[in-house]
Amino acid sequence: MIWNSHKESMSVDERRMLQGKRLHKVVAYVYHNVPFYRNKMQEMDLSPDDIRSIEDIVKLPFTTKKDLRDNYPFGLQAAPASEVIRIHASSGTTGNPTIVGYTRKDVEIWSECMTRCLTAYGVTRGDMFSVAYGYGLFTGGLGVHYGVENLGAAVIPTSTGNTEKHIRLLRDLGVTALACTPSYALHLAETMEREGIGPADLKLRCGAFGAEPWTEQMRGEIERRLGIKAYNLYGLSEIMGPCVSFECECQNGSHINEDHFFPEIIDPDTLEPLPYGQKGELVFTTLTKEGMPLLRYRTRDLCSLMEGSCACGRTMVRMSSIAGRSDDMLIIRGINVFPSQVESVLLGIPECAPRYKLIVDRVDNLDTLLVQVEVRQEYFDRGFDTLTPIEELERKVASRLKSVLSISAKVQIKSPNTIERSQGKSKFVEDKRKIQ
Ligand code: ADP
Ligand code: ZN
Repeated sequence: MIWNSHKESMSVDERRMLQGKRLHKVVAYVYHNVPFYRNKMQEMDLSPDDIRSIEDIVKLPFTTKKDLRDNYPFGLQAAPASEVIRIHASSGTTGNPTIVGYTRKDVEIWSECMTRCLTAYGVTRGDMFSVAYGYGLFTGGLGVHYGVENLGAAVIPTSTGNTEKHIRLLRDLGVTALACTPSYALHLAETMEREGIGPADLKLRCGAFGAEPWTEQMRGEIERRLGIKAYNLYGLSEIMGPCVSFECECQNGSHINEDHFFPEIIDPDTLEPLPYGQKGELVFTTLTKEGMPLLRYRTRDLCSLMEGSCACGRTMVRMSSIAGRSDDMLIIRGINVFPSQVESVLLGIPECAPRYKLIVDRVDNLDTLLVQVEVRQEYFDRGFDTLTPIEELERKVASRLKSVLSISAKVQIKSPNTIERSQGKSKFVEDKRKIQ
């Protein structure tokens, strides 16, 4: 099912015309309303009339998270305060929060885009949908909430917090769909297993997971343990919130709502645009936003754009899953390491639970990587220690890590439920080098 088949399935040429028209309009709008953009464009000797088609986008200046911080809190806001009806803030994974104001039209477009995502996941009226993203400044909770209401399904604003109560609601109300972070989905599964509740006790059918990177292995794990189909949902507060892109039933990349958010991939070092298929940094320009429109915002998320039509009938371009953020990339002894690489290795080892933590430190001027990972409950219960000595498992994990990461890591196998849980985004990494 497609929510807005006119917009989601329009011909590529027709969409490029629409994007060009919208780009021209938004550039003129920020030029006249945001001194930051006016100054930047004047420095580059650019006027809004130089931007006529979507191809002209490459002439425009970039915007970074630092620009948002430097102009904290409302410096990049284009709409007058009297038009702003909602304020959110990014969760600050990498620093101080950034503040985003939305007009009524922004909230409407957000709901429309979110409804497109939900429809692609197969959610319809009659579904009962639990939103277990945090409600509050974080865009996850309210963003999905408005989409579910707009669709006409019943929204349960569970938020994060009381997992036992949530499970009771899932079971007693016959909840059919769910949205949360992938790590929280696993936490739910673990808690259910501890309470002796299995997928057969629930009516859950599908889930929308995002707000943090996750791997195919993690998808398999969630699908198996919750007995559902797990879909990707991507977004960021600077651009809108959840709804920027979503997986359809083909699950071959996530369609970007590109009539509202225009994507480019650039080389993060040279800032040159890269062609479809090449991996680089994802950059978005908001084409219709009023509150805080952004030109060529550098997300730091690394992925590629996928060419070609999709069997679902949507013509909107797809992005690959996020391989990491160029800024959560760790450099350990000169080698680039993404936490997602470590996760893939760990989830490929049957004794390891998907609960881990990376601790990076510097001892005698040498970087060290410690990987703590929990052993799965079932192995632990079977007297794990007598089946495989811990040291042997630690050696096995270390050797797999070494072959994938090209650096040596120390591995510590932990008992179940000893690594700190998070209700929202997981804190997978502790980089002690920064504190020294
Ligand atoms: P912050 O940058 O403070 O984390 P947000 O809370 O808006 O701000 O989070 C947006 C970021 O979360 C994205 O830029 C991306 O790195 C990550 N993210 C969101 N959804 C996904 C997803 N489905 N897959 C991978 N990463 C995601
Ligand atoms: Zn599709």
